[in-house]
Amino acid sequence: MTLRAVQIQQYNEPYHVSDVPVPQPKPHQVLVQIKAAGLCHTDLMALNNEFNTPLPFIGSHELAGLVAEVGVDVTGFQKGDRVGCINFDSVCGKCADRKAGLLIYCEAPSMKGITTDGFWAEYMVADARFIVKLPDNMGFKVAAPLMCAGISIYGSIVRAGVPKGGSIGIVGIGGLGHIGTQVAKCMEYAVAAIDIKPSALNAVASYPHSPDALILATDPVEDSRQKIDQMVSSNYRGLDATVLATDHPAAFELAAALTRKHGTMVLLGQPEKGLPCRTTRLSTRISSLLGLWWRIRLRLRS
Ligand SMILES: [Zn+2]
Ligand SMILES: [Zn+2]
Repeated sequence: MTLRAVQIQQYNEPYHVSDVPVPQPKPHQVLVQIKAAGLCHTDLMALNNEFNTPLPFIGSHELAGLVAEVGVDVTGFQKGDRVGCINFDSVCGKCADRKAGLLIYCEAPSMKGITTDGFWAEYMVADARFIVKLPDNMGFKVAAPLMCAGISIYGSIVRAGVPKGGSIGIVGIGGLGHIGTQVAKCMEYAVAAIDIKPSALNAVASYPHSPDALILATDPVEDSRQKIDQMVSSNYRGLDATVLATDHPAAFELAAALTRKHGTMVLLGQPEKGLPCRTTRLSTRISSLLGLWWRIRLRLRS
């Protein structure tokens, strides 16, 4: 039996639609009939051979679909369940975090669509530890991108640890950031959207859960701080936390300037050449600088 899948057969070449064998679920896996699978910036990195992925491989690490078959050791899922899956294929089983039960902090994981076959296929197996049931009213196309972009930005906002009613700035209104401003609003924060493109700010301003302030990165910093003054009432000027959902190095300096004294910055973007920032800005203002990368906590169910 074969199924159709979208494969990368050569790096930096167009994708191929191929017939591949239907995978059989191992005891800890489920077979999922895929209804939607996302395309993420990381897929382009995989196509460009940034992860040394053995060829050929099937792309995508954002899944939503129906459970078609359940491995013998799997509990809590049955055929027909609507599920989503994050980008983990498996973990090494050896590192300290594995022993502590923190699977997603594994330092040598196998990743769907990144180091092994992903979800651009009619069917694919998924480790039951990394799937979650979807709410009945959530469409598959909505659910799939939440499995990477969604939980990454949500995890960052949660990790910032700002009490309800506080303020959050989302820096970089792209694939993650545009979800982040909406999620932060729904979490009852005062939200500033920060980007260099007016079109990105206008887009999030048009959503039902729109940010309280729109900050154009090219505006003078003092003007932006005044906008934030109008949005928050606090003893300190600036945002309680900023989440960097961009890898543009200049965004870091701006975010530090807009974060309040004793505030928190959460790094989600991965600037290739590191982060330039005046250390005085950090040492005198920011109390927490949290890295996230892909080692997000599993906050899938919430
Ligand atoms: Zn992704
Ligand atoms: Zn490990």
